Amino acid sequence: MTRRSTAYMTVDFGKDGKQVGSVNIPHSPHSDAWGATVLPIAVVKNGTGPTLILSGGNHGDEYEGPIALGELIRDIDPGAIQGCLIVLPALNIPAVMAGTRTSPVDGLNLNRTYPGNPEGTISQQISAFMNDVVYPHGDAFLDLHSGGSSLDILPSAIVEPALDPAHQKRNVEAVLAFDAPLTVVVSNLGETRTSTASAVRAGLTTVGTEMGGGGTVGLEALAICRRGIHNVLAHLGLVENKSAVREDRTLFEVAGSQSYVLASGDGVFEPFHANGTEISAGQPAGRVHFLDDPMRLPAELIYRQDGIVYARRQPGRVKPGNCCIVVASPFQGDLA
Ligand SMILES: [Zn+2]
Repeated sequence: MTRRSTAYMTVDFGKDGKQVGSVNIPHSPHSDAWGATVLPIAVVKNGTGPTLILSGGNHGDEYEGPIALGELIRDIDPGAIQGCLIVLPALNIPAVMAGTRTSPVDGLNLNRTYPGNPEGTISQQISAFMNDVVYPHGDAFLDLHSGGSSLDILPSAIVEPALDPAHQKRNVEAVLAFDAPLTVVVSNLGETRTSTASAVRAGLTTVGTEMGGGGTVGLEALAICRRGIHNVLAHLGLVENKSAVREDRTLFEVAGSQSYVLASGDGVFEPFHANGTEISAGQPAGRVHFLDDPMRLPAELIYRQDGIVYARRQPGRVKPGNCCIVVASPFQGDLA
């Protein structure tokens, strides 16, 4: 059944040239009876070729993607591409303007609302708009994330698993083309409510990224992000000048729940290793200190997976269940 979208756009997906406009989602809070939540969107179209959807700002505290996509929108010459780019640089605009992971409007994590609900809250309407209106126009999807305020993560390109081996191969090739220092298969423990899981269900060649983090703009991460966007455009044949992709690359994965080291107590987390350090299951990962009770011994946290420290919690304060460390391991699966 086709769901009716409440969103309306000032751009036309079928029109040649560069259009920069907005997606408007009617929003009627106390201060604005008949207003709208306004998301920036650009459509750049020329000749024949694939349609690539690019999004940043799914989480509002992840900045490299929105910055690089803003540059792309300003700088791209429609004559230089063959195909179509649909660019949404600040997808979760209320969160982007607040600098927060979740939406200040409805408290939701946009990336746990797909496929959305056109009759739901603002976040659910945004994900429904992407799922129902944007994805059917695309051949490929590049979703630019970073670690955000709570995680410092190694800049990496992410494979969203696909059930169909041919589709998985398309995803892996496009992710490798992004050419991040690290390539990681991340299933989010089988999570189906993300933008990339939803894009894979729509059949799109899908590339995710994690560009640094800590709620900052990383110099190296931004450079990787800019180059990676160009590399994906070239890989899909939207622009010429394919850059050489390194061959000698190990594919990593976040292998399962044992890859996450979670806080066991309410205190302050002391990590034992820097990102990128090789570690083994059974080795101490860090400890939680109890600052209100100096006689209490810190609680030790243990790695339960061999691999490298892929991401680390940024704020010191932790509560039980907070993600302190994510381990990435050499990929064991079959990529067909
Ligand atoms: Zn994110």
